[in-house]
Amino acid sequence: MLWEGESCSDGISSSDREDIRRMNHSGKTKLERFLGHAVITDGCWNWTAALSTKGYGKFKVVKRTQIHAHRWIWEYYNGPISDGLFVCHHCDNPKCVNPDHLFLGTHLDNMEDAFKKGRIKRVPVEIDGILYPSTESAMRATGRSNTYCRKRAVA
Ligand SMILES: [Zn+2]
Repeated sequence: MLWEGESCSDGISSSDREDIRRMNHSGKTKLERFLGHAVITDGCWNWTAALSTKGYGKFKVVKRTQIHAHRWIWEYYNGPISDGLFVCHHCDNPKCVNPDHLFLGTHLDNMEDAFKKGRIKRVPVEIDGILYPSTESAMRATGRSNTYCRKRAVA
């Protein structure tokens, strides 16, 4: 019989181990605390605690540190979010923290999604990792000195 500890992986992810440690500490896992701030339904899980100015849920991870609730739950299930990637909502509801309603995308993916759903009028153009609101503004901004377009590049 193989003793589990001898294999490379002990089957407990680092986040589980963190939770076990926290559970011992406070009696409640972080996930339990998280879910206590949301209304779980078959559809959207609406965040009931504090919201950011853009309407996203805010989750206090440790004292004085709050992160977006939808990002926290995405990372809980999927692991760390790479730099430059966004957690987007299929459901278009910024308050929603249902992991099934979330997907990972670039800023451009997010904008294209917003465009498809009619939240924004046009898809931005990406040149060298910078987003411009339109082809014309991208041409102007990259070609000559049009600071107006540069300022508007990040939506
Ligand atoms: Zn939703």
